[in-house]
Amino acid sequence: MEKHISGTTGLFTLLGTPVGHSGSPAMYNFSFQNQGLDYAYMAFDVKKEQMPEAIEALKLFKVRGSNVTMPCKTVAASLVDDLSPAAKIIGAINVIVNDDGKLTGHITDGIGFVRNLKENGIDIKGKKLVVIGAGGAATALQVQAALDGAKSISIFNQDDEFFSNAEETKEKLEDETPEVDVDVYPLSNQELLKEEIENADILVNATIVGMKPLDGQSLVDKSMLRSDLIVADTVYNPLKTKLIEDAEEIGAKAIPGKGMLLWQGAEAYKLFTGKEMPTDEYQAYEK
Ligand code: NAD
Repeated sequence: MEKHISGTTGLFTLLGTPVGHSGSPAMYNFSFQNQGLDYAYMAFDVKKEQMPEAIEALKLFKVRGSNVTMPCKTVAASLVDDLSPAAKIIGAINVIVNDDGKLTGHITDGIGFVRNLKENGIDIKGKKLVVIGAGGAATALQVQAALDGAKSISIFNQDDEFFSNAEETKEKLEDETPEVDVDVYPLSNQELLKEEIENADILVNATIVGMKPLDGQSLVDKSMLRSDLIVADTVYNPLKTKLIEDAEEIGAKAIPGKGMLLWQGAEAYKLFTGKEMPTDEYQAYEK
């Protein structure tokens, strides 16, 4: 695709490390060009400790906006001037918008998750969720689900350094969304997992299990699934995890992580440009 860059082209960036594998530059540059916007998007490999300088550089070069990826999402939240409501609760951001030197941080992962459900015909309002995971993706979608009116969220995680995140999320949501029931359980309690899934509307895997090199693995035994359960994964590589394949075999509604990725990007695009991302065109171009 030919790209014209002029003296007035507005710049958007991706900050984090590694960034060389990211699909974001292709997606945003395609979309800018498709909509005739005089913008360009570039990825910069930035370490956590370099983020204060990178944030200053955004201001110096009047960069219009930036995505932030691992491992810089938390430190970035502490460096911007303002935070969206979800970013304030989560304490991490993946999007920065630069309004004439004032930087506002947003987190769109959870919004992308909820939008992906919606695109699959599912409204999260009033739903009971079981979410396995307590890392970045899990926390973002748990907070957004609560803000968007889920009835209850049961969080399961293995006993590792992420477990306390789940307890913190529960505490924060008790303050912010007291009408939502949030419980935290050890993943080792398989009986309880089975029971909670039996009573749930939506089961979500938000761990790295199922992602390469843990592909072919699932944290949920196939016998715990049922045909009227909605099963979503955050993992998008591979496109279909073992959990998603098991859910499809049982006849459950199975929603892979690729859509969440697309919609979190589309939400960032809207924050950057005020326009809907041409998602259909981009998906057709990608194929
Ligand atoms: P993270 O490192 O922040 O969290 C890792 C999570 O996996 C923790 O809950 C941890 O306890 C759990 N975990 C790790 N090894 C485990 C094991 N052996 N058994 C059980 N649990 C285990 O990771 P993250 O950034 O939250 O990413 C999680 C997944 O979500 C990744 O596959 C990532 O690619 C995906 N993701 C997808 C999107 C999207 O838009 N679709 C966005 C962000 C992340």
